[in-house]
Amino acid sequence: MDCIFCAIAAREAPAHVVAEDERTIAFMDIDPLVRGHVLVVPRSHARDLWEMAIEDGDALMRTTRRVAGAVHRAFRPDGMNLFHATGEAAGQTVFHVHLHVVPRWFGDAFRPPVVPERGLDGDLATPAAEIRAALETGDLA
Ligand code: AMP
Ligand code: ZN
Repeated sequence: MDCIFCAIAAREAPAHVVAEDERTIAFMDIDPLVRGHVLVVPRSHARDLWEMAIEDGDALMRTTRRVAGAVHRAFRPDGMNLFHATGEAAGQTVFHVHLHVVPRWFGDAFRPPVVPERGLDGDLATPAAEIRAALETGDLA
């Protein structure tokens, strides 16, 4: 399979690796949104959230928390974003699941799409019930 993040995890493609363990590896984003932008990925290939094993998700968040702490100590940013994209509609461009660690500064150039859709009907109860019902099936995707 031709996957750049698998190649990086196997150390067959170059990357500035900052942390790794049995299940995960973290490296600098090649095209950083801000200084200190890191990607954290499971070693085991999963295309997106739907393919990722729960155990890899646990390991991914554990490494992300450690790396985010290190980025915080190293650069003392004003804040931090963690973000993830599953699917083209969400902006995914590399189809090996990954979490972005993005340190933030007041006045930096990064502009997440954060305009709330005020036109929505304000109904929270119905979607909450739909999500609870979906959770009851125990399925993951
Ligand atoms: P996404 O749009 O969430 O799928 O993010 C993919 C990210 O991977 C982008 O921020 C790219 O800059 C980054 N990226 C792509 N190729 C590489 C690479 N070879 N090494 C490091 N980061 C990469
Ligand atoms: Zn892969």
